[in-house]
Amino acid sequence: SPTIGVLALQGDVREHRSALEEAGARTIAVRRERELDEVDGIVLPGGESTTVSRLLRVFDLLEPLRARLEAGLPAYGSCAGMILLASRVLDTTEDAEHLDALDIVVRRNAFGRQVDSFETDLPMTGLGDGPVRAVFIRAPWVEEIGPDVEVLATVPDGPAAGRVVAVRQGAVIATSFHPEITGDHRVHRLFVETVRSATRPRVRPTASAT
Ligand code: GLN
Repeated sequence: SPTIGVLALQGDVREHRSALEEAGARTIAVRRERELDEVDGIVLPGGESTTVSRLLRVFDLLEPLRARLEAGLPAYGSCAGMILLASRVLDTTEDAEHLDALDIVVRRNAFGRQVDSFETDLPMTGLGDGPVRAVFIRAPWVEEIGPDVEVLATVPDGPAAGRVVAVRQGAVIATSFHPEITGDHRVHRLFVETVRSATRPRVRPTASAT
């Protein structure tokens, strides 16, 4: 079974790991560059994207992670994870870094104060029958997508109807919402399947003397 790393700087690390394990993957927590070499895919949990971006720098993970994503490492980002994977972010702080793994423009905290957090049933491409219970917590939405990006879900009704909240580009998937806390693990299963069928070889660093 594939080994999937969960970036363990902030957020629902334990919930993501158990959802992935239930979906048939082996998981490890990732806090160091060498741990990136053990994984076939990576999950970026929610949290505060500006903080995670800062922590990625502090832990010397920003460039190594960016390089692996560029080389084709499959990734799934939830909420702040979506923001981190994006190529451009609106309404963020100037110093926040992004990984540029998804050709999307994301608006941070897009749903606004009135509807800071909410839940809804969301039909999503790739999950089979039945909508997914989607929990949005100060969530972003996707404002623009590049030509290679597929929309997997939009908000079905309410003031944000039609907004894009789940996307995929090759082996990179992102959702505005948190599927790890609902007990419905189909999004994680979709990612595990994506990792399984990813054909690109794992990126290994060149041998070092130490
Ligand atoms: N609002 C957060 C951010 O901008 C994301 C919230 C979340 O991950 N639940 O990073």
